[in-house]
Amino acid sequence: MLTPSLEDYLEEIYRFSLSLDTVRVTDISKRLKVALPSVTKALYKLRDESYINYERYGEIQLTNKGKEFGCYLVTRNQLLQEFLSLIGSKCSFAAEAEAMEHYLSTATIDAIKTLVEFMRSNPSCLNAYNTFINIKKIE
Ligand code: CA
Repeated sequence: MLTPSLEDYLEEIYRFSLSLDTVRVTDISKRLKVALPSVTKALYKLRDESYINYERYGEIQLTNKGKEFGCYLVTRNQLLQEFLSLIGSKCSFAAEAEAMEHYLSTATIDAIKTLVEFMRSNPSCLNAYNTFINIKKIE
């Protein structure tokens, strides 16, 4: 089990790995607004848990385990943002998903996933829900 903070590191490394050939400590540091020594410390922990390969000042390479879990983390974040949009929340989707993602159980994430898939494949239900929300606003 990774801590929420280490999950965020892995999530960002995975995101970078989708668009960059080489992920560097400075990229992570800038993105997460964390000082370099803290990033390095986190990287060693992720390395010890076999999520990445990393030597000091070197490139960060995701292992298969890291790719798999990193992909899950990014997907989970997107799912929660989509869920918040779907239920008509007026929150900041990115910030709220960030706050929710580490604390929901896998069971709840799975249930949310099913609901989002259901709404996607049944636009009439989503429309009925949106109409209901709009009526509530008028009342
Ligand atoms: Ca995150």
